[in-house]
Amino acid sequence: MALLELSDVSVHYGRIQALCGITLTVEQGEVVTLIGANGAGKTTTMRAISGIRPLSGGRIRFQGDDITRLRADLRVVRGISQAPEGRGVFPGMTVQENLEMGAYARRDKKSVPEDFDRVFALFPRLAERRSQVGGTLSGGEQQMLAIGRALMARPRLLLLDEPSMGLAPQFIQQIFRIVTEINEQGTTVLLVEQNARQALTRAHRAYVLETGRIVKSGTGAELLADTSIKEAYLGVA
Ligand code: ATP
Repeated sequence: MALLELSDVSVHYGRIQALCGITLTVEQGEVVTLIGANGAGKTTTMRAISGIRPLSGGRIRFQGDDITRLRADLRVVRGISQAPEGRGVFPGMTVQENLEMGAYARRDKKSVPEDFDRVFALFPRLAERRSQVGGTLSGGEQQMLAIGRALMARPRLLLLDEPSMGLAPQFIQQIFRIVTEINEQGTTVLLVEQNARQALTRAHRAYVLETGRIVKSGTGAELLADTSIKEAYLGVA
């Protein structure tokens, strides 16, 4: 049984159809990436999975259960946690408080201190800044905080929407290394990225979205070697 299964999922914004019946799976333990041009529907797919955006067709299963109509906060309780595009840290709260917010839905509060340690080990820079307010962190630090906050929910499935967006090259490398590390620690990851080469290098499998449809899928290595993918997404003619 797949951890996550989308079957024929459609999403509309008013009259605009952003997703036109997409089908995909994420298996336990995988890093799966979604790549595609601007406006292809990547963020919409993440919103459909996290429950922020209702479906106009199709169904979503998580651990075999139909969650198509489950409220977003209850999906967090089940183990789906999203670090949103645009970061969304709470600007007036400290690093520590932001991370505490990530743990709000946890039932096992006793292990929260352990998870602080885990997040601070992954992101030492956050440890140094734990009493600084979120709004004064640099862009890269806010991105780390958003990922750290999502991890505080101890998710089974971590949804990462463009974690490298707007980051300097050395931060981009670091973020991708951390994605691999998070996965090796046992968290399944669905990753949306513009940075297709890095994403395909890190991912076990990938799906390519074009104008709301999945046009290709395969292992990261297969898609890295695919001529049409190279031309369209990897900047290689
Ligand atoms: P990007 O890489 O630019 O972030 P994306 O692949 O994440 O793009 P989405 O943000 O999912 O794309 O958008 C898919 C389509 O849905 C686009 O045509 C977009 O204009 C449209 N769309 C997204 N959000 C809304 C909204 N709130 N209202 C109307 N249309 C929307």
